[in-house]
Amino acid sequence: MINKVRIEIAAVSENEAFARSAVSAFVAGLDPTVEELTEIKTAVSEAVSNSIIHGYSGGREDKIVALECSYDEKGIVRITITDTGKGIEDIEQARKPLFTTGNEDERSGMGFTVMESFMDKVFVESEKGEGTRVILVKTLDLNYGM
Ligand code: ATP
Ligand code: MG
Repeated sequence: MINKVRIEIAAVSENEAFARSAVSAFVAGLDPTVEELTEIKTAVSEAVSNSIIHGYSGGREDKIVALECSYDEKGIVRITITDTGKGIEDIEQARKPLFTTGNEDERSGMGFTVMESFMDKVFVESEKGEGTRVILVKTLDLNYGM
């Protein structure tokens, strides 16, 4: 680990764009490609919006979503998104494409699938009634363009 930041945001949708931009600004220190940056931002957005929409049932200004980001000398970026919301009943089912417990008009059930396709690894830990932690890992190509 050569750099690390921790950010806490109130669990309201207004902060989704902030969380995405803050992570992007932090990771920019590694000189990622535009594509890598877009992928990381999109994955973070999916995880943060899940915490707000599902974990906190649409948002709670008195609750927090915590983000921890780090990277090391090998270009491995780790981002942890943690909420203390309602938790996931069945993680394996939740990760399946098209599975959603949300309103089918608004939700497509593709958030985890998007995270998995844009990151190298996605770990999900959750306990019903306790909360959810998503860990996103991606190795950046530090020699890009050389
Ligand atoms: P989309 O992301 O396409 O708008 P979605 O959010 O329902 O739809 P996913 O992001 O793949 O789809 O999440 C699948 C399901 O996992 C959700 O419908 C919800 O039931 C559950 N889930 C995901 N994240 C959380 C969370 N932080 N807390 C509680 N439940 C969650
Ligand atoms: Mg989602």
